[in-house]
Amino acid sequence: FVLIAGSANLDFVVRASHVPAPGETVLGRELHTFPGGKGANQAIACARAGGAATRMLLALGEDAYAEPIERSLRDAGVELLIRRSREHATGTAFICVSDEGENAITVAPGANATLRGEDLPELNEVSHLLLQLESPLDAVEAWARRARAAGVRVVLNAAPAQALPASLLDCVDLLIVNEGELAAITGIADDCDAALARVGVANVVVTLGARGCRARIDGEYLQQPAFTVQALDTTAAGDTFCGTLVAALAAGTAFADALRRACAASALACTRLGAQTSVPAHNEVQALLHT
Ligand code: ADP
Repeated sequence: FVLIAGSANLDFVVRASHVPAPGETVLGRELHTFPGGKGANQAIACARAGGAATRMLLALGEDAYAEPIERSLRDAGVELLIRRSREHATGTAFICVSDEGENAITVAPGANATLRGEDLPELNEVSHLLLQLESPLDAVEAWARRARAAGVRVVLNAAPAQALPASLLDCVDLLIVNEGELAAITGIADDCDAALARVGVANVVVTLGARGCRARIDGEYLQQPAFTVQALDTTAAGDTFCGTLVAALAAGTAFADALRRACAASALACTRLGAQTSVPAHNEVQALLHT
């Protein structure tokens, strides 16, 4: 099965005429709460894609914010390994969205910051471990090292963007990044193929928004155009891409086909509002792939 270790948050979203400047108070409209966090979003995408059983290691507080997060993951069919923190609240994100679609986001990682290297469970029967950078970097590196040593395929979505130590990249079989993250890792912003070759990981995928994605797989370049959709909200498009790609690879799908499937699922996610609520089901992706 696929194991995801990473973040889960409850997102508090308020729309307002504009994002407040420092010191300013803005009266917004209704409060909406959505389960989010890159780890949880990707776990849901992986489970909805079908083809591989999905488990997630996550940390939550002992508070009311944990409940909707757990429910969303369980409803999608994700099996949960929860580290419960007494001292820290469940992770939260406070998001103000302006009428122009600009946003300002403050994340309180809370319990997510308490995950440790030793929290990773037994890796028997795990084919792929999917990681992001919303967990402590030393824990991410410890998980990647242990999985690599156990023969598990290590997939890292290096988001949010930051420079990464070679000691972490050395344990990664597949790196998934967007253009900004690729530039943060390689220092190359203007030459995609040069950046893909510079990374030093055998398999790298860069997502290109409405242009689809490009990959360097064992030295060979692959290109997959995006599916044309009416984009409404691109939140969690990248997470949908990651979870769908890993589910397809875990099911034995060839790389080029898995990229096509990931682009189809993430395009559908762009047509719907929200994060986890916008992740499409397997049959919807099938329908788009066969149009
Ligand atoms: P992130 O949101 O992590 O920055 P991208 O913007 O690169 O990631 O989007 C991830 C994937 O979502 C892309 O590879 C593409 O397949 C899909 N996608 C994003 N925006 C669009 C769009 N406007 N139309 C169709 N597909 C899109």
